[in-house]
Amino acid sequence: MLNFSRPNVAAQAEDTVWAFHGRQLISELMGQPGAPIPLGQLKTDFPVVRDITPVGYLNDRAVYACAVESDDLDVMKYTSTNLFGLLGRLPQEEFDVIGRAHQLLNWEREHRHCGRCGNETHLSDKGQSRLCQQCNLSVYPRLSPCVIVLVTRDDECLLAAGVGSNRRFYSCLAGFVEPGETCEQAVIREVMEEVGIVVDDIQYQGSQPWPFPGQLMLGFTAKWVSGEICVDPEEIDDAVWCSGDTLPPTPPSFSIAGQLINAFLSTQRSL
Ligand SMILES: [Zn+2]
Repeated sequence: MLNFSRPNVAAQAEDTVWAFHGRQLISELMGQPGAPIPLGQLKTDFPVVRDITPVGYLNDRAVYACAVESDDLDVMKYTSTNLFGLLGRLPQEEFDVIGRAHQLLNWEREHRHCGRCGNETHLSDKGQSRLCQQCNLSVYPRLSPCVIVLVTRDDECLLAAGVGSNRRFYSCLAGFVEPGETCEQAVIREVMEEVGIVVDDIQYQGSQPWPFPGQLMLGFTAKWVSGEICVDPEEIDDAVWCSGDTLPPTPPSFSIAGQLINAFLSTQRSL
């Protein structure tokens, strides 16, 4: 169980660390996939261990993230996995914790200097923010809220294949929330922009952290009011109304898109 308070002390050799090599998470070959590794061991096995970043407390022990560099991974001892490849393979809670480690590591790396005056920043506020002592700017880890919406019309739902997806699967519509906008307004705008349809009855369903690199997916359902599908060809390759009988390939159920679609289909089946 992870406690999100960030340790305010430097990592010790016996503390455990999620080590990233680029976007790859390093795991011990004989250990549990995704488990953090003792810092002392990493320092012995990798020529460069840097950006050691406090993440929280795992089972009451401080835990950190870091970047490692190495030309060759010792394949008798370690394995590496793309963060995206761990989605659905680990319990969601474990994946979210590793995603948090990755996002905090990126945040530290990208905010070493103040965006306003260019001076160095330092961790402060019990590790929750980075502070520029020159101009007093505080910078918190940045999340990008993104709405994802399943539009329904009677017993059908609207699914779309994004440009570049090769129609591998059809999913809900999604887009970033703009400054000054409510999530509900973002849903209305995105659906209109992407498929030319007017919706209402917008209902929040749940959320999912999406650390690629720092989104928070906010899931909604909405009901069709008017309009025929007219896709924005820059964003959407194809969009169709589907029922349980005419379903194209859809995203897996560990994603919030898959959950929104499955919930709609099971409601339809129970009618
Ligand atoms: Zn500054």
